[in-house]
Amino acid sequence: MHYFAYHAGELYCEEVPIREIVEKFGTPVYVYSGKTIRRHYKVFDSAFKEIDHLTCYSVKANSNLAILALLAREGAGADIVSKGELYRALKAGFPPQKIVFSGVGKTVDEIEMALKAGILMFNVESLDELSLLGDIAKSLKIKASFALRANPNVDPKTHPYISTGLRKNKFGIPEEDIIPAYLKTKDNPYLEALGLDAHIGSQLITISPFVDAIKRLRALYEELLSLGFNLKYLDVGGGLGIPYDQEEPPLPEEYSSALIRELKGLELTLILEPGRVIVGNAGVLVTRVLFTKSNREKNFIIVDAGMNDLIRPSLYQAYHRIIPVYDRDGETLIADVVGPVCESGDFFAKDRKISAVKAGDLLAIMSAGAYGFVMSSNYNSRPRPAEVLVEGDQFFLVRKRETLDDLISHEEIPALYL
Ligand SMILES: *Cc1c(COP(=O)(O)O)cnc(C)c1O
Repeated sequence: MHYFAYHAGELYCEEVPIREIVEKFGTPVYVYSGKTIRRHYKVFDSAFKEIDHLTCYSVKANSNLAILALLAREGAGADIVSKGELYRALKAGFPPQKIVFSGVGKTVDEIEMALKAGILMFNVESLDELSLLGDIAKSLKIKASFALRANPNVDPKTHPYISTGLRKNKFGIPEEDIIPAYLKTKDNPYLEALGLDAHIGSQLITISPFVDAIKRLRALYEELLSLGFNLKYLDVGGGLGIPYDQEEPPLPEEYSSALIRELKGLELTLILEPGRVIVGNAGVLVTRVLFTKSNREKNFIIVDAGMNDLIRPSLYQAYHRIIPVYDRDGETLIADVVGPVCESGDFFAKDRKISAVKAGDLLAIMSAGAYGFVMSSNYNSRPRPAEVLVEGDQFFLVRKRETLDDLISHEEIPALYL
């Protein structure tokens, strides 16, 4: 059962016609399916039911408060990478004891806020960060629980921009430096080694890099136990891919059984940090065709959403399926689907066989629930789109479309120029 489907030639999200959402809130608009998010979360989380685990949704994939609240209610934890995400996660109702804090560049402010909030642990990415964490914990007299993020040097075979577990990437600590770093914390009463962590990349569509990484993590974990560290958590990060086009990523069941197999005989709580796999295929970006034109060599479909609203095609040459909201049975053309932004990189599809839409028609850019709105900007002074969440036959505005006043609300003209 797919929750974005045609009924009588018209695209619906669950039981709501997309048209109805557009009539009320205009375009471009992000539309999310609550049922899809819930189902993805449940399928993922229950794939690990035979072992102790905590599924910490990776907030950066889609941090809308409503989606966070939905997942918090389902019992998920949160994986955050900034104080902004901590603020959101707490507002949405995630218990601090289910929050892990990742990221290569945490500031003093961020560490203080997270310590005071009482999060489960910091995933520490450098020796500098570890010593800063110790200093701040001491000054606040709050014990900091941490895991070191190992860089296992495995190739996730994904786009270079979202590959994070290779030596040449900025993330984590080289394997050979991990044990000495834990040993350095042994006598520090303000640092408690609670786990070991890695995250090797995003949009992985094969199991083997995950297995390579967890084998290395297991070896380190056991060595740390033998050195007397009382670790309890092994955090394997996120990264499970989704089908955007023809990809056939592993199912959560296949992913979990491969991981669980590698953990036989170890007593620990596994932490998972899925992002894309929970929300990616639970959202679409709906846009209206402004114009169509041909420059003799090529056809262009110019839409009212731009790279500022959804940057994945421009940034990663990512593929998104694009379908008409009204099924125009039959007629197609080959065209570039482009936005209004003044950059040639502003496109959603190139040389795509697509329904022969005309000015005024609506298109849905599929699989836009992860790394969509969260990566949006105001480039070209474009107010960011609205976000709508559907639940059955109801729909809710979960973020208002920005206004022109929003665009300038933080700016000031010096008195000199007035
Ligand atoms: C981005 C990120 C994730 C989530 O990655 P997905 O590919 O969306 O599952 C998990 N953990 C960390 C540390 C990340 O940076």
